Amino acid sequence: MIAAEQPASAGPARKRIKKLEVMVADVVHETPDTATLLLFTGNDKLEYDAGHFLTIDPHQFPALERFTAYFEDRKGRREPQRAYSLSSAPHEDYLAITVKEEAYTSGVTEYPPLLSPLLVFRTPRGTRMTVTGFSGPYVLPPDVEHRTDHVVHVCAGSGGVPNFSILKHALHRHPKLRHTFIYGNKTRDDIIFRRQLDALAAAHPEKLRLVHALSRDPEARRHGPAYRQGRVTEDLLREWIPEPEAVEVFACGPGISKWDRRRARDEGTEPGPRFLETALDALACVGVPAARTHQESYG
Ligand SMILES: Cc1cc2nc3c(=O)[nH]c(=O)nc-3n(C[C@H](O)[C@H](O)[C@H](O)COP(=O)(O)OP(=O)(O)OC[C@H]3O[C@@H](n4cnc5c(N)ncnc54)[C@H](O)[C@@H]3O)c2cc1C
Repeated sequence: MIAAEQPASAGPARKRIKKLEVMVADVVHETPDTATLLLFTGNDKLEYDAGHFLTIDPHQFPALERFTAYFEDRKGRREPQRAYSLSSAPHEDYLAITVKEEAYTSGVTEYPPLLSPLLVFRTPRGTRMTVTGFSGPYVLPPDVEHRTDHVVHVCAGSGGVPNFSILKHALHRHPKLRHTFIYGNKTRDDIIFRRQLDALAAAHPEKLRLVHALSRDPEARRHGPAYRQGRVTEDLLREWIPEPEAVEVFACGPGISKWDRRRARDEGTEPGPRFLETALDALACVGVPAARTHQESYG
């Protein structure tokens, strides 16, 4: 995943964007490489929609100063702010982001990740920081209950973050909607919010169905009926989307980044599809109209 460079904001949300001084009130380690930061915002009035993101400027962290300067020398450009979706929902009385540490693979990844390792592993309770929010087009349409009674979430890895917020919000505010949450991860231990999702499914058995696709667990089914072995494929989507023309889909996860495009262009090739491109392609094959497919790329 790469940094969001001046992420686009949806029209009306723009006036609500402001800088907030926050303090990390708690840190919850969700998986070995992912943490939720609960942010205390004082008396600031928080106006955001489920699915919105905030941005964080890496220049504010003294612990990153040397890395930021070095990367800027090497890359020949200022390091941009990084975007993080809110994992909290507007009705909850705390603000939270959930960050997955970006991987570095020697010989494959061009640079080590800058901000995510700090946020996941070196941001203790009490840390103060400035965040800018809130914006983003990846939100439920205002007329969602007229458009459908079935929302399908199709996500992978940290792509589950905004969908978790949307799911909590919809279960709270749109009781007519039911949800199928299709979530791709490597193993069961990599599933962010696994316990929270199980608790929601237990509390709303008629409203929420969980489908976990585990790509690196050949015996995924031993974890229970919600688990499948393999990736999020067209067949899996077909199975869980019986009425593709009547659903509203929210798809989020790693997508082709501009660095992938640049590298492919330099090599005279096409960038290979990542989770999001594969999922969107499969959704189209299953018959979900593009107008009913909402997407957010973490590329
Ligand atoms: C709308 C949106 C919402 C997001 N929400 C979340 C969320 O909820 N949770 C979450 O964990 N993540 C989220 N992300 C991803 C997040 O913004 C960061 O991209 C991620 O944390 C990695 O940042 P980093 O600073 O750790 O890594 P970076 O320093 O940005 O590096 C990431 C990758 O980009 C490559 N790269 C960087 N600069 C260059 C360059 N100049 N040339 C070539 N390659 C380069 C690096 O080699 C590395 O592979 C979101 C992204 C978007 C766009």
